[in-house]
Amino acid sequence: MAPRDPYDILGVPRHATPEELKAAFRKLASQHHPDKNPNDPGAHDRFKEINAAYQILSDPQRRAAFDRYGHAAEQPGGGGFPGGIHVDAQNLEDLLGSLFGAFGFQKQQNRGDLRKEVTLTFQEAAFGCQRKITYDRAVTCGTCTGSGARTGSKPQSCNACNGRGKVRFTQGLLGLVGERPCSSCQGRGHVVTDPCETCRGVGIVAAEHNLEIGVPPGIEDGATTTVASAGNVTRPGKLPGDLELVFHVEEHPFFKRLKDDVQCAVPISFPAAALGGEVEVPTLEGKAKVRVPPGTQHGTVLRLKGKGIPRRTGGRGDQRVEVLVEVPQHLSEKQRLLLEELAREMGDEVQPQQRTFMEKLKDLFG
Ligand SMILES: [Zn+2]
Ligand SMILES: [Zn+2]
Repeated sequence: MAPRDPYDILGVPRHATPEELKAAFRKLASQHHPDKNPNDPGAHDRFKEINAAYQILSDPQRRAAFDRYGHAAEQPGGGGFPGGIHVDAQNLEDLLGSLFGAFGFQKQQNRGDLRKEVTLTFQEAAFGCQRKITYDRAVTCGTCTGSGARTGSKPQSCNACNGRGKVRFTQGLLGLVGERPCSSCQGRGHVVTDPCETCRGVGIVAAEHNLEIGVPPGIEDGATTTVASAGNVTRPGKLPGDLELVFHVEEHPFFKRLKDDVQCAVPISFPAAALGGEVEVPTLEGKAKVRVPPGTQHGTVLRLKGKGIPRRTGGRGDQRVEVLVEVPQHLSEKQRLLLEELAREMGDEVQPQQRTFMEKLKDLFG
């Protein structure tokens, strides 16, 4: 069967920019990743085809050769590629990029650094917790210890660079000669002709990793911490990158955080505010009673000492309780009569806020 046109495979036009190619590739690779389609035996071939298409089009030299010669350029010895093309081992970074992309990781500068979000409840963030984190990461293949070669076979010296891992190239009008890593062997100097079954010659496989972290008390939304060497291996046998954990603290139905304090709002009736009394409020650890002094105004903030967030330096913040005085919307006949009587009784009596208001008015208009 004739190989399909890589532009068709990626569903991009001939003039697609590298960014458009990359975006199309990432989308398709993540859609057709075999791990995401465990019950679809065709997924593996589709994934491979998408990968191979991207390897051709993401390399400017190979893309130009394909545009000119078609698939003939991809045959061993064709289109001016000495040593032929080893699709499986081509462009290791991009292949890994697609693996990581499918796992939902963000790759940073190819150091193998990973970033993962850890969601904490409001309580967990306040008091700290132990958290198990399970994720997939790239590690050196244990079957071939990273060589990529099937057990008992050896990688062959790379023909394209004569085993040097580097190739010379000329640049610009002056014909300056430079060296770059050999793209046939990724600078390794050897190619795998009989690939390891576990890693298909890449030398790296995805493996589940478990971590247990102690989250200290008082973590704020957006705080980060780095776990050294818990990231991906980007080259077989190399040290893994780091794992950055970004903490996301869930909202709480009652509490808002203000540095070390937590704040909640409690609605009370107008008579309760006027007469004073006790109200029950939620705290981070069960319920508590707050004394409302007689004559408490709407918006007053009462404090429960030491009921806030634990401080790293010791001690705890406070819980602030904002009083919301509610005016009744529906009055019974009796309530209306009582209120009318109260209004008559109060007459022209001036309340504290009214006094302030009237004084300000006087200052303004004399
Ligand atoms: Zn292997
Ligand atoms: Zn080479």
